[in-house]
Amino acid sequence: MAENHFKVVIIGTGPAGLTAGIYAARAELKPLILEGDQPGGQLTITTDVENYPGFAKGIMGPELMHEFREQAKRFGADCRTITATDVDFSGPPHTVHTTKGDFTADAVIIASGARALLLGLESESRLMGHGVSACATCDGFFFRGKTIAVVGGGDSAVEEATFLTKFAEKVTIIHRRDEMRASKIMQKRAFDNPKIDFMWNTAVTEAIGEPETGLTALRVKDTQNGDEREVPFGGLFLAIGHRPNTEFLKGHIDMDDNGYLITQPDCTKTNIEGVFACGDVQDHVYRQAVTAAGSGCMAAIDAERYLESKHG
Ligand code: NAP
Repeated sequence: MAENHFKVVIIGTGPAGLTAGIYAARAELKPLILEGDQPGGQLTITTDVENYPGFAKGIMGPELMHEFREQAKRFGADCRTITATDVDFSGPPHTVHTTKGDFTADAVIIASGARALLLGLESESRLMGHGVSACATCDGFFFRGKTIAVVGGGDSAVEEATFLTKFAEKVTIIHRRDEMRASKIMQKRAFDNPKIDFMWNTAVTEAIGEPETGLTALRVKDTQNGDEREVPFGGLFLAIGHRPNTEFLKGHIDMDDNGYLITQPDCTKTNIEGVFACGDVQDHVYRQAVTAAGSGCMAAIDAERYLESKHG
């Protein structure tokens, strides 16, 4: 078999891709894992992970992903710092075009994840994990007793703000317009919550603070008259949407209007024979490391059974 041919190629190295890698490697499928632009995925930009089962004292996101990777390598997974750029799913075998040549595979597992949209401020990146977060479920616990700002006007902003009221002293939803796009029932939930208030027609222009001491304030701008001011806050949560990393798959596989891959009910099969999808690239509902890992396991088992049915 050609050296660029693999039984299984896995695209992505977040919890989904690496769990698929562990299972595929243990099934002696010798998977090639394409690590992509952000090896380790979204957990590499968080600090403490306290809700991943098995770590009673919590674990740092990058360390957790390092352990996932070492575990996959221990069983023979071939992890390479390569990014998939295009695919040809006219097989099987299928072809994955990458930054370092083409690879063919009898089965492909797509675990390329999603990314939270950010405002694009330098200060926001600098303080990510130090008072700035894009995941309330992951990080809300660290903001007990603080005043928190949530940016956005959609269902996610309301959901995150409502969740954060469990910990925070007060939560302010900062929205760039004077009406929300969140569903009416979600809006009502926010309006009725005494811990939530609103800053309308407002944009965040800077996150103020240092990584050592955390976020202390936000510089905000009135989107109507341009006036700027500084407001003290102990946390900033971004809830302005997510994008699945599926640009390189456009036109090759079924996806929904938002670009999330469509999998068949109760399994990880896509509409293409021999192509499976797991993790955030096909899940815009749960988006947790543990659910991604679970679906990565499912994808490897689905791929193994598929290969067995084809090649014995
Ligand atoms: P979304 O509906 O796209 O809303 C994004 C919000 O962020 C909008 O209010 C938008 O403002 C704002 N925004 C976008 N870019 C911004 C920027 N650069 N600066 C400031 N604000 C910005 O995203 P979502 O809330 O994540 O929801 C995504 C999908 O999931 C939706 O279909 C939603 O219904 C669904 N969802 C459902 C639930 C639920 O039912 N429980 C929970 C969460 C999400 P504008 O309004 O001005 O454009």
